[in-house]
Amino acid sequence: MAERMVPLVGDDTRRVGFLYDPLFLEHRTPPGHPESPRRLKSILDHVSSSGMLERLANIPVTPAPREALLAVHDRAYLDELALPGERYLDPDTFISSRSREAAMAAAGAVCNALNSCRAGQISRAFCAVRPPGHHAEPARGMGFCLINNAAVAARYAQRIGYARVMIVDFDVHHGNGTQAAFYDDDTVFYFSTHEYPHYPGTGAAGERGAGKGVGFTRNIPLSPGSGDAEMRHAYHEVFRAETAAFRPDCCIVSAGYDLHEGDPLADLNVSDQGVREIVRTIVAACADIPLVCTLEGGYHPATLARCVGITLEELLL
Ligand SMILES: [Zn+2]
Repeated sequence: MAERMVPLVGDDTRRVGFLYDPLFLEHRTPPGHPESPRRLKSILDHVSSSGMLERLANIPVTPAPREALLAVHDRAYLDELALPGERYLDPDTFISSRSREAAMAAAGAVCNALNSCRAGQISRAFCAVRPPGHHAEPARGMGFCLINNAAVAARYAQRIGYARVMIVDFDVHHGNGTQAAFYDDDTVFYFSTHEYPHYPGTGAAGERGAGKGVGFTRNIPLSPGSGDAEMRHAYHEVFRAETAAFRPDCCIVSAGYDLHEGDPLADLNVSDQGVREIVRTIVAACADIPLVCTLEGGYHPATLARCVGITLEELLL
């Protein structure tokens, strides 16, 4: 894949980064598992064949720094991930021989994107990674997620000078892991729209943070069947207002495309145009700060690829 991308050096016109590494395909899941390497292959085929790849800056992927991982995850959990042997962490979450390596690189990619923003090379990025991250809690992986990519990257962002970090999560599932990592924190704002009630069960409107973090978590639970109109309200009215009030220094997007009406794992009715409006609203609200998207869910490969393409089009505008 990498050799098909144009090198970044000597060209400062490509302001949107695209981060991908073949290692992400080495996280193997059992036959029939919805979170399969096919998802990324479909995205790459689409991004390549549409000609978008030539407009994107190729940012190399390196593993997440240990300190950033430890700023979110317990040492004992990270040690557990390093144990050899294929196994299930929970009934949905499988670890294959190279899953840990892939997960470290997935979290690393989001950190790499932020670093490139900090260095002035790019202003926005999309990280096409797996395994996804937002269900991973400080002390346990779950829901297809091993390392919380967005959360690790948020702590990394703070280390490199972005004091206030907005995380916005439009995956159809609530990001329980991300919420848990920052629930009592007033420097990282977590905003989520999700189907509710639904897996993993968290994300009620009343979950608003704890201690000094009260008011820095905002959940918009949506009943099954909700679609573009509900999303328009959530992003245009609520997200914009929260972002304006919080004044973040950078924004990390947990981009999960299982909110789409074509997705097999959930029951929201968001259309292609709905996805475009969500991304456009986020980009507009964060026009003056770095914006880095990291792939979460999305389990209909063709729909997923199309929606990532829509996201890239909006990032490139
Ligand atoms: Zn999801």
